[in-house]
Amino acid sequence: MKTLLKLFLSLSIVFCVLLSTSIQAQEDAKRPPIIDVHVHAMRVNPDFVREMCPWFLSSMPGSGPEQDPPSFINNMCVDPLQPAMSDAEMKEKLLAACERMNITMVVSGDAGVIHDWYDAAPDRVIPSLGISNANQMSVEAFRDSLESGFYKVMGEVAPQYQGMSPSDMTLDAYFAVAEELGIPVGIHMGTGGNGMININNPAYRASLGQPFLLEDMLARHPKLKIWVMHAGYPMIDQMIALMGANAYVYVDLAGFIWSYPKEEIHMYLKRLVQAGFGKRILYGTDFMMWPRLLETSIGVIENANYLSEDQKRDIFFNNAVRFFNLDPADFE
Ligand SMILES: [Zn+2]
Repeated sequence: MKTLLKLFLSLSIVFCVLLSTSIQAQEDAKRPPIIDVHVHAMRVNPDFVREMCPWFLSSMPGSGPEQDPPSFINNMCVDPLQPAMSDAEMKEKLLAACERMNITMVVSGDAGVIHDWYDAAPDRVIPSLGISNANQMSVEAFRDSLESGFYKVMGEVAPQYQGMSPSDMTLDAYFAVAEELGIPVGIHMGTGGNGMININNPAYRASLGQPFLLEDMLARHPKLKIWVMHAGYPMIDQMIALMGANAYVYVDLAGFIWSYPKEEIHMYLKRLVQAGFGKRILYGTDFMMWPRLLETSIGVIENANYLSEDQKRDIFFNNAVRFFNLDPADFE
């Protein structure tokens, strides 16, 4: 009996050692890489930070001009995402999340913040230079900035917020520089937030987010590589027609992936894949201030049961590697 007990005890010890070794191995194993093509770097503004409930647009508020404008986001849920409260907290939590989930980000926005994040984690940050109108920067300064080598991408280009079409000729010389230098360009098309015209941006026009508005500009720059940010949501038919006619146009899923109702997100994504464009969908968040937004958004793709594991890896990584001309070996 004693011998049996001893045998049982030693087997249990061996089993426990094996189990803890395998758990450790799992923890040590790097998660497969993810490229988030749509991240905004901005200084933390204490007046602007707020909590946010993902998928808050599941119920659009009823409203009228005699009432207060609708709130831009909603924090009435059990566990809203918390914003970072300082620049230091933002950098620390965001870069820690990238390290944990093996994410590399295409980052646009405040140049000082981009440099700060890049200096801390050069492997996690691909700097992007955004221009949305000619007053921001001269064409020469734009070319110099790109030729200096720090910026690898042009975006977010967002003429829609100023009531302007992406084919407006005032932007054309900038697109010509990007085309000549082989710089990929991200252009905001589609949704810009609920009630934004009433809340803070009377110049915004929903109609200027129509994917077809890109066609004249694309015809003038046949070698330009663009991706349509927010996938032109909710104009799926135009998006599919544009991608069919223009073989180099990609889309990202940013913004609507965490703000619109989940059924709506999946319907839109499923339609893009069903139409045959699974190789031209990029993963992106539109990250602004909530470090936990990264895992929230990744979960949407991970839980999309109509996608195969290969299709998920294309969206998370392979499509971006191809689109941005990256070397997969750099991510091993
Ligand atoms: Zn955008």
